[in-house]
Amino acid sequence: MATLDMRDGRAETGATEAVQTQAFDVIVIGGGPAGMAAALAAHKAGAQVAIAEREQHLGGILRQCIHPGFGLSHFKQELTGPEYAQRFIDQVRATDIALFLGSMVLGIDSSESTEDATLHTVTLMNPSGMLQLTGRAVVLAMGCRERTRSEIKIPGSRPAGVFTAGLAQRYINIENLKPGSRAVILGSGDIGLIMARRCTLEGISVEGVYELMPYANGLRRNVKNCLDDFDIPLHLSTTVTRVIGHDRVEAVEVSQVDERLAPIPGTERVVPCDTLLLSVGLIPENELSVAAGVELDPRTRGAVVDQSLQTGVPGIFACGNVLHVHDLADNVTTESERAGAAAAAYALVGGAETNAVADTSCELTVSPAGIAGYALPGRITAVALTKLNFRVRRPVDTARVRILANGEEVFAGKVRAFKPSVMESFPLPAKVIQRALDLGASEIVLSVDPVEEA
Ligand SMILES: Cc1cc2nc3c(=O)[nH]c(=O)nc-3n(C[C@H](O)[C@H](O)[C@H](O)COP(=O)(O)OP(=O)(O)OC[C@H]3O[C@@H](n4cnc5c(N)ncnc54)[C@H](O)[C@@H]3O)c2cc1C
Repeated sequence: MATLDMRDGRAETGATEAVQTQAFDVIVIGGGPAGMAAALAAHKAGAQVAIAEREQHLGGILRQCIHPGFGLSHFKQELTGPEYAQRFIDQVRATDIALFLGSMVLGIDSSESTEDATLHTVTLMNPSGMLQLTGRAVVLAMGCRERTRSEIKIPGSRPAGVFTAGLAQRYINIENLKPGSRAVILGSGDIGLIMARRCTLEGISVEGVYELMPYANGLRRNVKNCLDDFDIPLHLSTTVTRVIGHDRVEAVEVSQVDERLAPIPGTERVVPCDTLLLSVGLIPENELSVAAGVELDPRTRGAVVDQSLQTGVPGIFACGNVLHVHDLADNVTTESERAGAAAAAYALVGGAETNAVADTSCELTVSPAGIAGYALPGRITAVALTKLNFRVRRPVDTARVRILANGEEVFAGKVRAFKPSVMESFPLPAKVIQRALDLGASEIVLSVDPVEEA
């Protein structure tokens, strides 16, 4: 039998028995909306494609999102999460894309191949054993996971009844289990808002949604459809400061917070409940990426990519929630189609030649400024129309996006409102990139600056 060493997320055989290997052009890790869109785009471009997915089914997190609101931009039709996913599952099944389901990817190894491009080996484990897939290009599409109680350090006892909102969503929508009878929700992100409504529809009394910030963090339509329509109170500038209960949650203590987000002594209030649902942020699932040598952006916690969504490791691309957290699956699809097409071009044309397409004299980093929380891509290596994504850190009614190079304004957008719940994107014209290069810049700054109204 092979002996396995799983340290650093890499698998090595020390081995008397060779691990079975299959060759593809493009290997996609993750079978959610990002992975499926990337795989379909790579297949359409003529690549031999494989998807490795740890669950038994394609669809990713959308399988448990049974509410409507998907597909409005992509299909011009309102679908539920499973309906949206099924449209892509059907397309994938109609191709010869190889599916490795129930297959957990353990590591990615990259080595110089004989034909001047890097060959990547993706090691996965499934009930039949260990398998290696080789490919010129890999697309990272592993999605993200939820922040937990320990990551926001809520004091108090540690009884049963504290769940992340997504876990409760899975219990109710997939496992047919009821997480509790009387819930408090911490965090007004979209998953928290949707779960407030879902719990109410399942007969779970929702005592309120509590939000640390002075504004709701989810989409406006979700505040209206999920809270206002069901008379569920939203308490802004308020957080949970203690969990109370021995075996099971009996109550939570909530407190108002000041402008520095610190609890205000004397404002404590005890809210009886048996369940605390946490909707306090998502973290891109990047352990595999880091082990493969991919550099992460500390702001997005996803990979630093260029305009074609290629990471700093040649031939490894990233898209979807593993790259940066998206609020709409439709945007995940559009982005991932770009990553899949670019991965296929890389795999089929050959690494060195594809890199030659990038203008070697163009190497710009992209940094956020003002109230922009991040800017993506983090690098631009070609003078071409480039899609820029960003998110603001606080809501503003009037602000302007500006692009600066060597301190000079080379682009200015319209004055308008921005919200942290909405991921923004706009096309940066090639001539702006050329102007930055003409100014001798090595960095462009995407600045979102509040504008004083006259
Ligand atoms: C709990 C939760 C609820 C959400 N609810 C909504 C909602 O209601 N509406 C909405 O528009 N958006 C929602 N989102 C956002 C939603 O995740 C995105 O719109 C979209 O699903 C992201 O697609 P993705 O393919 O990047 O990630 P996912 O859908 O998460 O897919 C990633 C896939 O990668 C697989 N994977 C991860 N690691 C490995 C590995 N090592 N090996 C093999 N496979 C692996 C996972 O099993 C998963 O299937 C929610 C997100 C979460 C986390």
